Amino acid sequence: MRDSEFGFIAKLAAMFPAPEGVRGIGDDCAVIPRGDGRDTLVSTDLLTEGVHFLRNRIPPRELGWKTAAVNLSDIAAMGGTPTATFLSLAIPKDCDDGFLSEIMAGYADASRAYAAPLLGGDTCASSGALTLNVTVLGECPHGHALLRSGARPGDTIYVTGTLGESAAGWKAVQSTLPETDLTRALIHRHYHPVPRIAEGREIAACEGAGAAMDLSDGLASDLRHILKASGCGAGIDVNALPLSAQLRQFCKEYGTDPLELALCGGEDYELLFTLRPGTTPPVPCTAIGTIHAGSGLVWKGTDRDFTGFTHF
Ligand code: ADP
Ligand code: MG
Repeated sequence: MRDSEFGFIAKLAAMFPAPEGVRGIGDDCAVIPRGDGRDTLVSTDLLTEGVHFLRNRIPPRELGWKTAAVNLSDIAAMGGTPTATFLSLAIPKDCDDGFLSEIMAGYADASRAYAAPLLGGDTCASSGALTLNVTVLGECPHGHALLRSGARPGDTIYVTGTLGESAAGWKAVQSTLPETDLTRALIHRHYHPVPRIAEGREIAACEGAGAAMDLSDGLASDLRHILKASGCGAGIDVNALPLSAQLRQFCKEYGTDPLELALCGGEDYELLFTLRPGTTPPVPCTAIGTIHAGSGLVWKGTDRDFTGFTHF
């Protein structure tokens, strides 16, 4: 019997308490005060073949982009500005130079787009899966990082963008569905996440900012982290969720449930955040619910329950 992913992380957090003044395990990034009025943000995420991508399906340039982008997304989640990345690769023998060059070209695209230079890393052989691990550094004004613990009863809950298309794209990648303009567009959403760096900074600079995180495991799972860290409950109106016409079309054509994909699918890399009552959102977003005192997550507009993706 093994702990759930989150049970394991909770044990780690208890075993390795952060030093005074430092935010350690438990948020999208660690927050380390620099002493000059700014805080350093650090996060690390890995992508491994067979779990996060299928090597014979993903275009290598997209794999490079995605590897950088999902890491930069954790800096966005804190309202920070990326400053540098470090990349470690475990490379199987049958991965040729052309494939690796394309991965690095995609990584360079993201690195340039978000002004986050690659400053180091590690390279070794792999006896199995192609594995890519990034450590990303960022910064923000001291004490201004958006934390998962920042929600208060009465806050409105928002998300940027739309939900579920990446999960639909992953379904399309794994299936034998015929390629159409629709499946191609959804697969692009899955391969090409856009870290919401500018939006995160705007939210962090906003007077009424509450909690924030990026959506990697699906809203149903991710929101529960904010609720736990903030000691609150929430109500989400499923009829208010931003679902694109493309997602609805895909679900109609292939007999899939849009709510399941939007709430449990994961890899949206949109920002989930809260604002104090009466605050005008500083970025394009959709209000989807409210934080309340106590605990629990209530789904309004449905009698179903939703949980998110967990890794094990
Ligand atoms: P995210 O989805 O934002 O990358 P995760 O769910 O992966 O966050 O991780 C949640 C928290 O647990 C983060 O603060 C992360 O740094 C920490 N964490 C996850 N795995 C480990 C580990 N093996 N050792 C130490 N901290 C970890
Ligand atoms: Mg995150």
